[in-house]
Amino acid sequence: MRVLVVEDETRLASTLQDLLELNGYTADVCHDGEAGLDNAATGIYDVVILDVMLPKMDGFTVLRRLRQEKNATPVLLLTARSEVSDRVEGLDLGADYYLTKPFEPKELLACVRALTRRQPELRDADALSYGDLKLDRASFALSCGDRSVRLSRKEFDMMELLMRNREMVITKESLLVKIWGYESDAEDNNVEVYISFLRRKLAHLRSQVRIKTIRMVGYCLESQES
Ligand code: CA
Repeated sequence: MRVLVVEDETRLASTLQDLLELNGYTADVCHDGEAGLDNAATGIYDVVILDVMLPKMDGFTVLRRLRQEKNATPVLLLTARSEVSDRVEGLDLGADYYLTKPFEPKELLACVRALTRRQPELRDADALSYGDLKLDRASFALSCGDRSVRLSRKEFDMMELLMRNREMVITKESLLVKIWGYESDAEDNNVEVYISFLRRKLAHLRSQVRIKTIRMVGYCLESQES
């Protein structure tokens, strides 16, 4: 799971990053609202922790823009302000939760867990389905009817992302970052190679689902079933 922390107090930001990483999350940090919006808008995060008082663009504006772009990433607003009207404004704008500073690390972790649970595709722990396909998280098996193939770890991660996003286009960059991480030196053609592995497996399964290439942008799933 990948968490974005948008917080201008550098000490608090790195404390949050450490806390999240100690608890098994991958955490990226940015220190102003504009960078926060750019990063959050990529859609690669499972949760965004967003401070309200930020340089360049405040948290409310970041949140409003995200929701205007139909980005539904769960957002946890963080603020020193505890006025009821602020909280109401944040929730009205589409925040999923509101935490007032100072807060207990435990409380923050509980919020992050609650927000990731809330995503329906993550709630169903065992199987994910799209069209005639089923992806089993426990066995890494992709199946169609009575045919089934085992996926490698990276193929699985990629298929899971495609299936979670369904007909929405995922950019090559998102796939690259989500699967190989920011630090990696993997390139676009790594994505192409894995997409071709998956296409071969879909053909083998005789699935009606195809991975469509949107030129210069990325990929999405398409089911031929009417
Ligand atoms: Ca701040």
